[in-house]
Amino acid sequence: MSQHKLITEMLALSKSDYWVQAQDEWDFVEMHKGEGKDSCICGKTPIRYLCKLQNLFTHNTVIVGNCCVKQFWGFRADLIFAAVKRVNEDLTRSVNLPTLALAVRLKWITLWEYNFYTNIRGKAYENLSLNQAPIKDEINGKILRRIPIYKG
Ligand SMILES: [Zn+2]
Repeated sequence: MSQHKLITEMLALSKSDYWVQAQDEWDFVEMHKGEGKDSCICGKTPIRYLCKLQNLFTHNTVIVGNCCVKQFWGFRADLIFAAVKRVNEDLTRSVNLPTLALAVRLKWITLWEYNFYTNIRGKAYENLSLNQAPIKDEINGKILRRIPIYKG
């Protein structure tokens, strides 16, 4: 894989001409599992997790793999995908910390929700209070809507 290639290609699709600035223009839109036919913009092929990023100014979109999101955006698509898949299959489960960190960073959830979830995520669902359970459900729902799991 080539860092240089990713930077060149993404700069061409960004507003800024400087990578440090251009990097912040890109927002994570969604993630799903590939069928082994897709490539990352850096040239790595095939990639297992397809992360779609969109530029806030130019609205261009790109697909990047775990190889590059990990390096440039600091999150691991594989860990996040695994957590979301678990919760999708059983809504009483909890997402992991990397997923929560990403969700709060991208403002899918509020800082309050992040702190709440961090405090209760180790508890079994049946041990949550009557107030806590629906809040956890709502936060799980917010995250699942952002990372659709395509079955099959
Ligand atoms: Zn890559």
